[in-house]
Amino acid sequence: MSELADLCNQVQVCQKCILSQGRTNAVPGQGPEDADIMFIGEGPGFHEDRQGIPFVGAAGNYLNELLAKINLQREDVYITNVVKCRPPGNRDPQPQEIEACRPYLDEQIALIHPRLIVTLGRFSMQRYFPGASISRIHGQPKRVGNVIYYPMFHPAAALHQPRWRSLLEEDILKIPDLLAKLDEIEEEESEIPQAEQLSLF
Ligand code: URA
Ligand code: SF4
Repeated sequence: MSELADLCNQVQVCQKCILSQGRTNAVPGQGPEDADIMFIGEGPGFHEDRQGIPFVGAAGNYLNELLAKINLQREDVYITNVVKCRPPGNRDPQPQEIEACRPYLDEQIALIHPRLIVTLGRFSMQRYFPGASISRIHGQPKRVGNVIYYPMFHPAAALHQPRWRSLLEEDILKIPDLLAKLDEIEEEESEIPQAEQLSLF
C-alpha cells in the first residue's frame, strides 16, 4: 500500500478530535498521488460525510464546473480539506480541531508534492496567509521556492454571493498561466548550474 493510502486509512479511524464523534465517514481526500495541483477546502459537508469523498455536494458540482473552464477534470487534481471530518451542522471548524488535523494535511502535501496549492475559503488560506483578508488577497499568488500558493474564494460561499462568484471565476482562469510561469522559472533555474559549469572550463 502507498504511504498516501496508508495515511488515508489512518484518517478513517482517527479520533484525535471531537469531530470524530459526529461523523458518518471521515473524508481524507481524493486524487492522483502525483497531482500538480492541490485544492484545500474547509471541511466535509453533509454529502461528503455520507460518501467519504470531498466536494461531492453543490459546492463540489460548482468546483467541477470551475475546473472544466480550465480544461481540468477532478481526476487531474488532488482535493482535500483542512479538517477531515464534518463539523456538526456545518459550523466553522474550531482552532483545536484544525490543529489536531494539521499533521494529516502536512503529510498529504509532503507525499503529493503539489506545485500549486489552491486554498478555497479562509480556513485553508490562514495556513499560508495568516491574518490576511480573503477579499483583499484572493487571486494573488505567492511563490515559495517551487510551490505557488493561490488563495481563492470558497465555491460554497461564491454560490450564495454573485459578486464573489465572478471573482472566483476570474481567479480560476489564471491558473494555467501560473503553472506556465512556474515551468518557466524551473527551466531558467535548471539552466543556471549548467552555465556555471561551462564557465569553469
Ligand atoms: N466544502 C468544503 O470545504 N469541503 C468539502 O469537501 C465540501 C464542501
Ligand atoms: Fe481526526 Fe481530523 Fe477527524 Fe479530528 S477532524 S477526528 S483530527 S481526522
